[in-house]
Amino acid sequence: IPYQPTYKTDGLQKKAKNVILLIGDGMGLAQIQAGLSANFGRLNIINIKHIGLSRTEASNSDFTDSAAGATAMATGSKTNNRYISVDTNGKPLKAIPDLLAPFGIKSGIISSGDITDATPAAFYAHQTERSMSQELAADLVNSHVDILVGSKRKSFSENQDNRLMEKLARRGYLYQKSMVDFVSSDAAKQLVLLDDSATRRVLDGRKEMLKIAFLKTLQLLSKNEKGFFIMAEGAQIDHGGHANDLPFMVTEQHDFDRLVGEALKFADQDGETLVIVTADHETGGLSLLDAAYKRGTVRGNFSTDDHTNIMVPVFAYGPGSADFMGVYPNVKIFSKIINAYQVK
Ligand code: MG
Ligand code: ZN
Repeated sequence: IPYQPTYKTDGLQKKAKNVILLIGDGMGLAQIQAGLSANFGRLNIINIKHIGLSRTEASNSDFTDSAAGATAMATGSKTNNRYISVDTNGKPLKAIPDLLAPFGIKSGIISSGDITDATPAAFYAHQTERSMSQELAADLVNSHVDILVGSKRKSFSENQDNRLMEKLARRGYLYQKSMVDFVSSDAAKQLVLLDDSATRRVLDGRKEMLKIAFLKTLQLLSKNEKGFFIMAEGAQIDHGGHANDLPFMVTEQHDFDRLVGEALKFADQDGETLVIVTADHETGGLSLLDAAYKRGTVRGNFSTDDHTNIMVPVFAYGPGSADFMGVYPNVKIFSKIINAYQVK
């Protein structure tokens, strides 16, 4: 059952203290509609009133991947596919957490998948190849992320730099291996590297890992007087699209939408939080052929096992949300987020 927002702070022309960016990887309009129909016409995301459209092309292709897509949102620069927060010449670009840290604003990055995968990595790492997970993991040493939650622990714990975990400890990270340990700790800086099974598909029993990680990160970072930035990713909507598997895609979209509900609830309680919900690109070229929300059914065809370049929606709620209306390139999401804060 969706959360009913109060809209008290929605669209106010004032600065935000906190920004929550929720990225549904591969979540185009058809994915949202499929989730909506399968959930009997109810979703949190459709309660958001300030809506824009994001053009997702990469520098070297009309079809973006998650690396160029996340780089655009994390750094404000278009780059080539496979590049992680470096420009087209391979030069590192500052990501949102690095730009906000000098102002005392803390950052949390969460994924319901591999934390070294392209979407989360673009917020803390800089490499010209997204598959270099060892190098991406090692880049965390120089980043300004305070809380990092996801799977693929091995990229860190079995890094080619065998002193990586020691270096990260010296940077102040408390290393956690389970959600239970994370939830029971009040440490302000935590590196939560889960078993890969913790990010299995919802269909295989993942349950509420994403929501719990998000709520705990909110609890820790909202203690910070200067504010926070959180990027939380529904990583596997994209995987359902690549697999052309509608039940896979829909269950992941529902999981992501529960996160949207929690973010809206926090924004209402807090009164100074801007929530943005968007995607890096659409995956699968999904067309819905039949969608009966009264019966909670949906039928569709995928036209590709890859990404498409159709514009993706951007939903914004809270102070500064009106700035997200219109049609713009994905890099504008970055500048709109920076502008939303009382910084510069
Ligand atoms: Mg992703
Ligand atoms: Zn993909």
